[in-house]
Amino acid sequence: MTTRRIMIDPGTTTHGLVVTEGRYVVASDSAADSATVEEWIRLSAPCLVLVERIQAHGIAGNDVIRTAEWSAHFRAIALEHDRDCAWLYRRHVKRALDVSGRSSDAVIRARLRSEYGEPAWQTAKLCPRRKAKSHTVDCPACGGSGFSRRAGWLAQVKGHAVQALALSLAYDLGAREVTP
Ligand SMILES: [Zn+2]
Repeated sequence: MTTRRIMIDPGTTTHGLVVTEGRYVVASDSAADSATVEEWIRLSAPCLVLVERIQAHGIAGNDVIRTAEWSAHFRAIALEHDRDCAWLYRRHVKRALDVSGRSSDAVIRARLRSEYGEPAWQTAKLCPRRKAKSHTVDCPACGGSGFSRRAGWLAQVKGHAVQALALSLAYDLGAREVTP
Protein backbone atom coordinates (compact mmCIF):
# COMPACT_ATOMS: atom_id res chain seq x y z
CA MET A 1 0.00 0.00 0.00
CA THR A 2 1.24 3.43 -0.90
CA THR A 3 1.42 5.77 2.01
CA ARG A 4 -0.58 8.93 1.69
CA ARG A 5 1.38 12.15 1.89
CA ILE A 6 0.01 15.48 2.99
CA MET A 7 2.18 18.47 2.07
CA ILE A 8 1.53 21.89 3.50
CA ASP A 9 2.99 25.28 2.55
CA PRO A 10 1.50 27.46 5.31
CA GLY A 11 0.33 31.02 4.69
CA THR A 12 -1.19 33.76 6.83
CA THR A 13 -4.82 32.72 6.23
CA THR A 14 -4.76 30.11 3.47
CA HIS A 15 -2.25 27.39 2.70
CA GLY A 16 -0.78 25.48 -0.22
CA LEU A 17 -1.95 21.87 0.11
CA VAL A 18 -1.24 18.69 -1.84
CA VAL A 19 -2.34 15.19 -0.90
CA THR A 20 -0.83 12.31 -2.87
CA GLU A 21 -0.78 8.54 -2.93
CA GLY A 22 2.23 7.61 -5.02
CA ARG A 23 1.78 9.24 -8.41
CA TYR A 24 -1.83 10.05 -7.81
CA VAL A 25 -2.96 13.48 -6.60
CA VAL A 26 -5.85 13.00 -4.18
CA ALA A 27 -6.26 16.74 -3.55
CA SER A 28 -4.52 19.95 -4.51
CA ASP A 29 -5.35 23.46 -3.41
CA SER A 30 -3.25 26.60 -3.74
CA ALA A 31 -5.36 28.38 -1.11
CA ALA A 32 -6.83 25.83 1.29
CA ASP A 33 -8.39 27.15 4.48
CA SER A 34 -7.06 25.96 7.83
CA ALA A 35 -10.05 23.73 8.60
CA THR A 36 -9.59 21.89 5.31
CA VAL A 37 -5.91 21.22 6.02
CA GLU A 38 -6.74 19.94 9.52
CA GLU A 39 -9.48 17.70 8.15
CA TRP A 40 -7.07 16.01 5.73
CA ILE A 41 -4.61 15.35 8.57
CA ARG A 42 -7.34 13.94 10.83
CA LEU A 43 -8.94 11.73 8.17
CA SER A 44 -5.74 10.34 6.65
CA ALA A 45 -4.35 7.39 8.57
CA PRO A 46 -1.69 6.32 8.06
CA CYS A 47 0.04 9.19 6.36
CA LEU A 48 3.20 11.26 6.25
CA VAL A 49 2.63 14.95 6.92
CA LEU A 50 5.23 17.35 5.55
CA VAL A 51 5.00 20.94 6.78
CA GLU A 52 7.20 23.84 5.82
CA ARG A 53 8.79 25.35 8.90
CA ILE A 54 9.14 29.11 8.90
CA GLN A 55 12.37 30.90 9.49
CA ALA A 56 12.65 34.64 10.03
CA HIS A 57 15.26 36.67 8.21
CA GLY A 58 15.97 39.82 10.18
CA ILE A 59 12.95 41.35 11.89
CA ALA A 60 9.86 39.20 11.38
CA GLY A 61 6.65 41.02 10.50
CA ASN A 62 3.22 39.92 11.66
CA ASP A 63 2.63 37.95 8.47
CA VAL A 64 5.71 35.84 9.09
CA ILE A 65 4.70 35.28 12.72
CA ARG A 66 1.17 34.31 11.71
CA THR A 67 2.49 31.90 9.09
CA ALA A 68 4.85 30.37 11.65
CA GLU A 69 1.93 29.90 14.05
CA TRP A 70 -0.04 27.99 11.41
CA SER A 71 3.00 25.90 10.57
CA ALA A 72 3.43 24.87 14.22
CA HIS A 73 -0.31 24.32 14.56
CA PHE A 74 -0.49 21.86 11.64
CA ARG A 75 2.54 19.98 12.94
CA ALA A 76 0.92 19.75 16.38
CA ILE A 77 -2.29 18.37 14.87
CA ALA A 78 -0.28 15.76 12.96
CA LEU A 79 1.64 14.66 16.09
CA GLU A 80 -1.54 14.65 18.16
CA HIS A 81 -3.00 12.13 15.70
CA ASP A 82 0.17 10.03 15.65
CA ARG A 83 0.92 10.83 12.02
CA ASP A 84 4.48 10.60 10.78
CA CYS A 85 5.53 14.18 10.39
CA ALA A 86 8.51 16.17 9.19
CA TRP A 87 8.84 19.89 9.72
CA LEU A 88 11.17 21.16 7.03
CA TYR A 89 12.91 24.50 6.80
CA ARG A 90 12.77 26.03 3.36
CA ARG A 91 16.56 26.30 3.27
CA HIS A 92 16.80 22.54 3.74
CA VAL A 93 14.21 21.99 1.02
CA LYS A 94 16.20 24.22 -1.32
CA ARG A 95 19.44 22.47 -0.45
CA ALA A 96 17.91 19.05 -1.14
CA LEU A 97 16.56 20.30 -4.47
CA ASP A 98 19.90 21.89 -5.22
CA VAL A 99 18.39 25.31 -5.93
CA SER A 100 19.51 28.66 -4.59
CA GLY A 101 18.52 32.29 -4.78
CA ARG A 102 16.47 34.55 -2.56
CA SER A 103 13.16 34.73 -4.38
CA SER A 104 13.03 31.17 -5.55
CA ASP A 105 9.38 30.11 -5.94
CA ALA A 106 9.89 30.19 -9.71
CA VAL A 107 13.17 28.30 -9.42
CA ILE A 108 11.53 25.59 -7.31
CA ARG A 109 8.68 25.38 -9.81
CA ALA A 110 11.15 24.91 -12.66
CA ARG A 111 13.04 22.29 -10.66
CA LEU A 112 9.83 20.29 -10.06
CA ARG A 113 8.79 20.60 -13.70
CA SER A 114 12.04 19.09 -14.86
CA GLU A 115 12.05 16.45 -12.10
CA TYR A 116 8.65 15.04 -13.00
CA GLY A 117 8.77 15.87 -16.73
CA GLU A 118 6.51 18.03 -18.90
CA PRO A 119 3.85 15.33 -19.55
CA ALA A 120 3.13 15.21 -15.79
CA TRP A 121 2.10 18.89 -15.83
CA GLN A 122 0.18 18.99 -19.10
CA THR A 123 -3.45 19.98 -18.97
CA ALA A 124 -6.09 17.99 -20.83
CA LYS A 125 -7.06 18.93 -24.39
CA LEU A 126 -10.55 18.44 -25.77
CA CYS A 127 -10.84 16.43 -28.94
CA PRO A 128 -11.14 18.89 -31.85
CA ARG A 129 -13.66 16.59 -33.52
CA ARG A 130 -15.86 16.02 -30.51
CA LYS A 131 -18.74 18.18 -31.79
CA ALA A 132 -18.90 16.61 -35.21
CA LYS A 133 -21.98 14.49 -35.90
CA SER A 134 -19.70 11.77 -37.14
CA HIS A 135 -17.80 11.66 -33.81
CA THR A 136 -17.80 8.10 -32.55
CA VAL A 137 -15.94 5.85 -30.13
CA ASP A 138 -13.67 5.05 -33.05
CA CYS A 139 -12.42 8.65 -33.25
CA PRO A 140 -8.72 8.40 -34.13
CA ALA A 141 -7.93 11.57 -32.15
CA CYS A 142 -9.47 10.57 -28.82
CA GLY A 143 -10.75 7.01 -29.00
CA GLY A 144 -14.18 8.29 -27.97
CA SER A 145 -13.01 9.77 -24.67
CA GLY A 146 -13.58 13.36 -25.86
CA PHE A 147 -10.02 14.27 -24.92
CA SER A 148 -7.19 14.21 -27.41
CA ARG A 149 -4.75 14.62 -24.53
CA ARG A 150 -5.22 13.45 -20.99
CA ALA A 151 -4.22 15.65 -18.08
CA GLY A 152 -0.87 14.77 -16.51
CA TRP A 153 -0.91 13.57 -12.89
CA LEU A 154 0.31 16.98 -11.65
CA ALA A 155 -1.85 19.17 -13.92
CA GLN A 156 -4.01 20.36 -11.04
CA VAL A 157 -1.05 21.30 -8.82
CA LYS A 158 -0.64 25.09 -9.04
CA GLY A 159 0.57 28.14 -7.13
CA HIS A 160 1.35 27.49 -3.47
CA ALA A 161 0.48 23.84 -3.98
CA VAL A 162 3.64 23.55 -6.12
CA GLN A 163 5.67 24.86 -3.19
CA ALA A 164 3.99 22.28 -0.96
CA LEU A 165 4.87 19.54 -3.45
CA ALA A 166 8.52 20.60 -3.20
CA LEU A 167 8.50 19.30 0.39
CA SER A 168 7.80 15.79 -0.87
CA LEU A 169 10.62 15.77 -3.40
CA ALA A 170 12.99 17.27 -0.82
CA TYR A 171 11.99 14.53 1.63
CA ASP A 172 12.67 11.87 -1.00
CA LEU A 173 16.06 13.47 -1.58
CA GLY A 174 16.92 13.23 2.11
CA ALA A 175 15.69 16.46 3.72
CA ARG A 176 14.70 15.77 7.34
CA GLU A 177 13.50 17.64 10.39
CA VAL A 178 16.24 19.15 12.48
CA THR A 179 16.25 20.16 16.14
CA PRO A 180 15.68 22.65 17.53
ZN1 LIG B 1 -12.54 12.47 -30.70
